Amino acid sequence: MKFQELKEKITDSRATLVAVSKTHSPKEIQVIYDLGEREFGENKVQELMDKIDDLPDDIKWHMIGHLQSNKVKYIAPFIHLIHSLDRISLAKEINKEGRKAGRVIPTLLQIKIAEEDSKFGLDIDKVDSFMDNYLKRGYENIRISGIMGMATFTEDEEVIKNEFQSLESIFLHLKEKYFANDSEFSIRSYGMSSDYEIALESGSNMVRIGSLIFGERTY
Ligand SMILES: *Cc1c(COP(=O)(O)O)cnc(C)c1O
Repeated sequence: MKFQELKEKITDSRATLVAVSKTHSPKEIQVIYDLGEREFGENKVQELMDKIDDLPDDIKWHMIGHLQSNKVKYIAPFIHLIHSLDRISLAKEINKEGRKAGRVIPTLLQIKIAEEDSKFGLDIDKVDSFMDNYLKRGYENIRISGIMGMATFTEDEEVIKNEFQSLESIFLHLKEKYFANDSEFSIRSYGMSSDYEIALESGSNMVRIGSLIFGERTY
């Protein structure tokens, strides 16, 4: 699919596109930038740091991969959104580095929804205890702006649909219980190249798309 067509489709659904540029070179990213895209996602801190100097500084960078606490300091000064908050120790570190950088760093709670064990994220039954613990700490330099999730990698659309619906329920639950007065808690980051259409039908308002834009990854 042509990039513009994809972008229009996503914009028509009132969702934000994050172009996932992991494994692709600054040159390849620049091509998509020149088509008007400004939001890009990477899943490794080192790879992101290696690329940013070669690219325009009005790019909004998203960290979409598992994040080690000791790497937060590198991205804290500029990261637009961290999609992978999944533990208190990481929230503490983001808050600390956010304070140093003089920022409030926006994050998404990553929820584990897929069957596969390999996926990171908070288990559904731990979400409330995480939130209770998090709120007690009164962190001022991190904010939670919504949730992120990944569906099981399967051809079975019913499975994917059910998982996105679970994410939607969790979002609504969190909104009602913890963020009722916080209009910034609004982001539902779900949907990738293979399932973004189902995600958009299920309430997603941020999709993370790589291979459909940049072609299949070779590693
Ligand atoms: C790689 C990746 C994507 C994009 O995957 P595609 O199938 O290439 O669209 C989205 N989200 C996360 C967390 C990823 O690691």
